[in-house]
Amino acid sequence: MGKTSTHCLVYANLIIEGREYGFHVFMVQLRDENHRPLPGVEPGEVGPKYGDNGTETGFLRLFNVHIPRNWMLMKNQQVLEDGSYVKEDKNSKAQYGTMLSIRAGLVMGAGYRLAQGVTIAVRYSCVRHQGFTNTQGESNRANPEHPIIHYQNQQYRLFKQLSLAYAFVFTGKSISDKFQKTMGDLATGDTSDLPEMHATSAGLKALCTFEGASGLEECRKCCGGHGVLLASGVSQMTLDYTTYCTAEGDRIILELQSARYLIKMITEARSGATVHGMADYLNEAGKIKIGEVDPSVYLQYRADTDEDFKDLKLLSSLFRNRALVFCVETADRLNSLIKDGLSYDDAWNSCAVDLVKCSRVHCYYVILQNFVSQINAIEDMKVKRILICLCQLYALINIMEDLGSFELTHKQKGLVRSVINQLLKEVRVDCVPLVDAFEFPVSTF
Ligand SMILES: Cc1cc2nc3c(=O)[nH]c(=O)nc-3n(C[C@H](O)[C@H](O)[C@H](O)COP(=O)(O)OP(=O)(O)OC[C@H]3O[C@@H](n4cnc5c(N)ncnc54)[C@H](O)[C@@H]3O)c2cc1C
Repeated sequence: MGKTSTHCLVYANLIIEGREYGFHVFMVQLRDENHRPLPGVEPGEVGPKYGDNGTETGFLRLFNVHIPRNWMLMKNQQVLEDGSYVKEDKNSKAQYGTMLSIRAGLVMGAGYRLAQGVTIAVRYSCVRHQGFTNTQGESNRANPEHPIIHYQNQQYRLFKQLSLAYAFVFTGKSISDKFQKTMGDLATGDTSDLPEMHATSAGLKALCTFEGASGLEECRKCCGGHGVLLASGVSQMTLDYTTYCTAEGDRIILELQSARYLIKMITEARSGATVHGMADYLNEAGKIKIGEVDPSVYLQYRADTDEDFKDLKLLSSLFRNRALVFCVETADRLNSLIKDGLSYDDAWNSCAVDLVKCSRVHCYYVILQNFVSQINAIEDMKVKRILICLCQLYALINIMEDLGSFELTHKQKGLVRSVINQLLKEVRVDCVPLVDAFEFPVSTF
């Protein structure tokens, strides 16, 4: 827009005689036939950015710019010549389609971009040698050295990112499929899936881009000094990708949007309505009432062997119940603050840190569900076996890094750690084929 575009689409609030009709889309001509900005139009380029400088990012200021009435995109709603506003109920929400499709693409993109970084770091870790194989002998220097992938910490850091990359790609695929269905429904006037799709895609965009960016940074660090060099490929990739945490919506704002939906669903479930879709576990919110059932009982499990903690059903219920209990407790706190006299906005802001966590634990559950359902569809048993390991690793590392949200006994916490260590060894054997399976050509790095 800063330098090249002749026209753009502006998303803006439609106001007719002081009445607001919400955001609509308007085509605006920016430049004349000599490529000079039209009167009142001030386009520009934002200047050098932290990353992603290959993509030009423009800004635009408009002063009293007039456009023809029919340059508003009017397929589903119109402003007539007499200034009256007409909206077709059937397609009243269709303008959300672009936003949802971009979010679905960003979830998938987070997975693929992270996979690129992991590919570089895993392959590098298999050829980079550091540390002697026998540090206890008298002449260490005569011993060969280990490839750095041998080290447990290197495995933990990299295989965590590898599991996230697969998890995000699977989730992106599933969200894209759901998006196609939602768009089909919208075309027939059925908007019932839209609120959930809107809320979950907001939370997933926020979480996956954030995890993708921090995961890439971890991959970069895993390459040591070479990760600092632009020649590694992973350093510039990390900088470029970080901009995605902000573009298309700041993380916190999107997570608060997602949380608003979850809290609303709890209220609806408690008043007897049925919650459908990925948040259907909130139907149990009606059973958990302050003072009647201690929510933490939902977080206790009878699991006392390694095998128990490899069971994807058990892991799914741990994630599901963490989301249920956290959302219910936050909703209860919000309601009690309002009851105590706080305004809704002040009460909301007093719970905001927990509200974003509601979105995150909901999304981690959604991601695990998608991971498991994609695995269930795999027929090749060898592929299935290793992807099950990655899925277990995704879930168990997530649990270990958020132990405070589960009522696990001391012994169970030890089992979580020990199963992670077993899985790292199993994934180590197949880590190169697992990154090569993404089939990135060398020229893309
Ligand atoms: C590379 C790039 C490309 C972009 N491309 C486009 C584009 O094509 N089209 C377009 O329209 N926009 C574009 N944007 C703009 C982008 O959508 C916004 O920058 C983004 O949504 C954040 O808004 P902001 O910059 O106003 O930040 P702010 O809203 O000012 O946020 C600053 C900080 O305040 C916090 N904050 C703000 N409000 C709240 C609140 N209510 N509660 C809690 N915390 C809050 C945020 O979490 C954040 O930490 C682009 C941005 C970037 C970086």
